[in-house]
Amino acid sequence: MSLDGAYDDGNIFAKIVRGEIPSVTVWEDDQVLAFMDVFPQSKGHVLVISKTSKARNLLDAEAKTLGRLIGAVQKTARAVRAALKPDGLVVTQFNGAPAGQTVFHLHFHIIPRWDGVPLGRHGEGMADTDALKALAAQIADRLER
Ligand code: AMP
Repeated sequence: MSLDGAYDDGNIFAKIVRGEIPSVTVWEDDQVLAFMDVFPQSKGHVLVISKTSKARNLLDAEAKTLGRLIGAVQKTARAVRAALKPDGLVVTQFNGAPAGQTVFHLHFHIIPRWDGVPLGRHGEGMADTDALKALAAQIADRLER
């Protein structure tokens, strides 16, 4: 899918926001949802999305949405760091299929990294739901209030 085009309400993250398919929530408010990636590239891989915007990518997004999202990314990344003590932490965001985007609802990846531990491949290897729930609880416990 190119950078241009209409937002598809049937995309998987739209379904998660509407509660039509399950996800493992880390935290949410009226505008933002942080949840565990089911095909994690590392332990503690979290996705952050807007619950209200129909932006497909960074280029579509309203400035206000981006402001809320990047604040939510920082809040979540701080909690991931506090909970899991990674040596580093990657934040990624893909725009268009050629850039690696597979779900066309704007999202940020937070991927903790440890020295000597290779990065898993993007979108491969489904995680155990109970393990994701345990990680989400650990991360949520370290959110700054
Ligand atoms: P991207 O390739 O940047 O569009 O990222 C989409 C991400 O969504 C990938 O990392 C997938 O592992 C992840 N993903 C796909 N389906 C789900 C799902 N149902 N719940 C959580 N994460 C998902």
